Amino acid sequence: MASPTPIMTATRTVRRDGAAARRIDAEICVVGAGIAGISAALEAVRLGRKVVLVDGLHALGGQAVNSVIGTFCGFFSNGHSGYQTVHGIADGILRDLGAQGALHYRHGGPSNTIVVQYDEVALARWIERAIAAAGITVLLGAVLRQAERDGRRIRSIELATRYGDVSVAATGFVDATGDAALAWNAGLACREAADGPIYGTQMVVIEGIDEAHQPDRPNVAARLKQKAKDYGLTRESGFAFVFPGKSIALVNMTHVETPLDPVAMTQKSLEGKEQADRAVAFLRGEYPAAFGRARIRTYGALGIRQTRWIVGRQQLTVDDVRAGRNFPDAVARTGWPIELHDTPQGHVWEPFGDDHLHYVPMGSLVSPECDNMVAAGRNIDGDVAALSSVRVMGPCIAMGAAAAHALDLSGAGSVHQIDDAALRARVRDNVERRD
Ligand SMILES: Cc1cc2nc3c(=O)[nH]c(=O)nc-3n(C[C@H](O)[C@H](O)[C@H](O)COP(=O)(O)OP(=O)(O)OC[C@H]3O[C@@H](n4cnc5c(N)ncnc54)[C@H](O)[C@@H]3O)c2cc1C
Repeated sequence: MASPTPIMTATRTVRRDGAAARRIDAEICVVGAGIAGISAALEAVRLGRKVVLVDGLHALGGQAVNSVIGTFCGFFSNGHSGYQTVHGIADGILRDLGAQGALHYRHGGPSNTIVVQYDEVALARWIERAIAAAGITVLLGAVLRQAERDGRRIRSIELATRYGDVSVAATGFVDATGDAALAWNAGLACREAADGPIYGTQMVVIEGIDEAHQPDRPNVAARLKQKAKDYGLTRESGFAFVFPGKSIALVNMTHVETPLDPVAMTQKSLEGKEQADRAVAFLRGEYPAAFGRARIRTYGALGIRQTRWIVGRQQLTVDDVRAGRNFPDAVARTGWPIELHDTPQGHVWEPFGDDHLHYVPMGSLVSPECDNMVAAGRNIDGDVAALSSVRVMGPCIAMGAAAAHALDLSGAGSVHQIDDAALRARVRDNVERRD
């Protein structure tokens, strides 16, 4: 006779009042797991540091993955066949995604550089595997809600997760939140755009397209300008990038405000999806041979370009960008255009020539009020136009790596005391190498 199936038992449990937060200690805590934070975390591990990486989302990769940005910009110098201007994790991503057929290189075009289309699922898995292999302690779904300071040092951060509170204490911190959430919660001075919003974009991936009939980009741009209103579209510019051989395209045709108020932000995310639906209706209606049967496969999380950023020791200015000014403490470079999304209808686009590069100084990554925090990615200090040209993913990767090096060099001291030459030697590949 078969023995009866064992019945699992359960214990009765009640929440204890004032349950203590789980505590984690690290040498370097990276807040924000977008492309800048991933670069910072992996570089810090390479330097032998014990790293904790936290993000409020339930997936790694920030906007690069979760907003389906879909193209790497700022990886190459300008011109039709420029050289690679950023290394570190950029090398591994280009090598491994390239080997999987998950990349498509676009040369020239209005940006006068090489942009690399990528499959966001392949990028997500690359990041997850790299972070796991590095042995990094990762906390996802962990929203930073408070930072504790001892004078000029951040001592610890408090995070809320669905399974209870977590406190992370570290010697150094990277603010790679995109919105300067760490600097803000630590009471450090920040900036916000004063002359109206910088618009975000609801990106979508569409499938069921006929590649053979795809219209060229100038044609789509001209038609959008003429017909956007007929389809109820706010923005009158944008593009649909077809991914050759995969019958999918990446659509970037909406402009949506991204306010810092939580209720308003949620409402705008929903509006963004409506706008994206209209963008696809435009493509179907205007280009039936290519897009007549297109439907949306993925809506990304609303893409946020710029909200709040740190007040740094030095502010990168649009004059620095236009002049291609180099700095003794330069940590990143790019030739990407000024790309300012400051009106609902369109954007300012100021491309640069083949020999142009502009640089990001370490001074723009550090707050004059704090010794152990380095910002990286789209929340460093620049004026609005300068930031618009250095927030693409190439320089974000370089800034993340530089943040790890600056904290490694400063140890328990101050990021304001590190030697420019020592830092330069470590980040040389991202500011000088040309091959
Ligand atoms: C629509 C759009 C199109 C773009 N197109 C391109 C392009 O084609 N190519 C290109 O290279 N760049 C493009 N960019 C720019 C680029 O994608 C971003 O600037 C870059 O990805 C920013 O990376 P990041 O790591 O600085 O920030 P993010 O990717 O924004 O990552 C920040 C992370 O911090 C987390 N976080 C924030 N606050 C908290 C908190 N309080 N607690 C815990 N976690 C928190 C977030 O969840 C997020 O994962 C585009 C941007 C947008 C918006």
